[in-house]
Amino acid sequence: MMLKQLPPAVTYLVKDNGKVRVHTLVSSAPFFANATHIIELPTQLILIDGHFFAQYGYEFRQLADSLNKPITRFYVTHAHPDHYLGMGDAFADVIVYALEEITKLILQAGPHELKEKQQHFGNLIATHLTYPSQIVEPGEEEIDGVRFIFEKAIDTESPETLVIKLPDLRIAIVQDILYHNSHAFITGPVAGWKAALQELRDDTAYDTILAGHGTPADKADIDNAILYLDKVGEILSHVNDAIEYKQQLLAAYPNYAAAKLIDIYLPILFANKV
Ligand SMILES: [Zn+2]
Repeated sequence: MMLKQLPPAVTYLVKDNGKVRVHTLVSSAPFFANATHIIELPTQLILIDGHFFAQYGYEFRQLADSLNKPITRFYVTHAHPDHYLGMGDAFADVIVYALEEITKLILQAGPHELKEKQQHFGNLIATHLTYPSQIVEPGEEEIDGVRFIFEKAIDTESPETLVIKLPDLRIAIVQDILYHNSHAFITGPVAGWKAALQELRDDTAYDTILAGHGTPADKADIDNAILYLDKVGEILSHVNDAIEYKQQLLAAYPNYAAAKLIDIYLPILFANKV
């Protein structure tokens, strides 16, 4: 039984077209506002991303179990620990899919990442990892009569990210390419990231955008995310150090979730800046 030490996650029913339902579970705002998703098909569940804290991994599992269908695939979109650490214990029995590069990174860095975060956060972190075993190839696939498009996005918030699109539902699951009313994880130049957001905004095939942090979003939220990246660039161009940078970013976005992310990326960003 999992001890609930953190504020509970919030669940959203994003879409129900009679055949497919899409659910999103978002961890609480101070604890990264991680958003993970369930595509509930007629006979099975497809899950996307696995949280940072073990408690939210368990809450995600409870949501999946409440739907009374088997979990056939669990996709991990990229190799940042807030997308794969939390699921380790709660989803030890699932088949995890990831891009080849992401699988390699998690196999390499995962054990150290897990140990380090356990030292820092104690029993808020899962006891072990559940590793990807199936490689995702970009392309199209029909699962349970529903079209899935798998894409590899390059040079956005992380070097490689899996994007999953559901054209029948007009939903694009872009994870950390979009931070929705949430501070973003920024470690270097953002030109490629901005270009991906602009392309997504201009793609008329999709109108519901599922973020990796924050609640389900729409096109207007993409514009806000682009403005946020512009603001980051502007602040970076005139501040002297990391402390000044953080103060100005928090002043510009006082109500955004996941402010802790800034502390985590600052040493990386300012090391790259010099
Ligand atoms: Zn993330």
